[in-house]
Amino acid sequence: MTLDKNKILELEQMIAKAEKITLCTHTSPDADTIGSALALQNVLLQMNKKVKVVCPNVAPDFLSWMPSVDSILVHDMQGKAVHEAVLEADLLFAMDFNAPHRTANVEKVMKESTATKVLIDHHLFPDEDYFDLMFSFPEKSSTSELLFDILYNSNFKKYINKEIATNIFVGLMTDTGSFAYSCDQPETFETAAKLIRYGVKVKETHDIVFNNNSIDRLRILGLGINDNLHVFADKKAAYIAFSAEELNQFGDKEGLTEGIVNYALSIKGICFAALLTEKDDKIKMSFRSKKDFNVNEFARNNFEGGGHHNAAGGKSFLSLKDTQAKLEKLISEFDI
Ligand code: 5GP
Ligand code: MN
Repeated sequence: MTLDKNKILELEQMIAKAEKITLCTHTSPDADTIGSALALQNVLLQMNKKVKVVCPNVAPDFLSWMPSVDSILVHDMQGKAVHEAVLEADLLFAMDFNAPHRTANVEKVMKESTATKVLIDHHLFPDEDYFDLMFSFPEKSSTSELLFDILYNSNFKKYINKEIATNIFVGLMTDTGSFAYSCDQPETFETAAKLIRYGVKVKETHDIVFNNNSIDRLRILGLGINDNLHVFADKKAAYIAFSAEELNQFGDKEGLTEGIVNYALSIKGICFAALLTEKDDKIKMSFRSKKDFNVNEFARNNFEGGGHHNAAGGKSFLSLKDTQAKLEKLISEFDI
């Protein structure tokens, strides 16, 4: 990947000119969106900018330790403050998402904003009409890695510190499944090496994210694998579904079922996996695939979603039962 020097110059000029800068993250925040936003916030604060990070909903517990995470304004709890932060900004960043609708309840105010808008993201098909400047690199492992490249190859390099490196490392580590996928390019590991030189502690960081499960998380995983796993071996597909009642039984907190879809994908011979969770007004869907099966396209075509080639999400407004029936019909037509 080569970064366009002129674009970096343009970004430096936009930031130099701006006084109030707001960094937006996507709904159901993950470590990549939060890590990249917090890292950029740290840089901008060192430049004495007035910076805010806004998030549609609260981050899962296993990310609550991330440096400066408490500074995030969460729409579900501080709606007014989020609206103000977006409307008063003269520069608005989209971190790790490609279009305003990915911010759910923040979308409306993002569209009202008259700020200059910058995209830093690795999802396919960015909303080109919305953004004034785009750093869109779908081939990158993570937005965090992309942000590091931008910082490291610009006048911002001098601001990189251990806190920034840690937030970036968490995004990179989680978006690659602990360096298992989306990291065939040596640059990803070169970035990790640089982050370690800035003081990142790999084992500590890995432990706090992955060996920090609540009992509820483990127990619902058990239920999912034991009772709620549907396997279509001849179609190389499997999925797990949880009703709202089951989720509530385990205290349906943000992040409760994060990662469970990967267990369905881990079955020998399975190339397509889905996780269905019944929420208040919709069924939330996560899709994962191995090799050539394009879940980004699958989610776009069938479940109002999108994402990446091997990891995507979507939603359904049918009942859980009808969503399962729709999914099973689609699976029956698979020829993987
Ligand atoms: P997850 O299954 O972890 O929620 O999402 C997997 C990937 O798909 C992430 O990169 C996420 O940003 C993206 N994604 C999840 N839901 C949606 C959606 O409704 N629309 C789009 N365009 N992308 C999504
Ligand atoms: Mn990401």
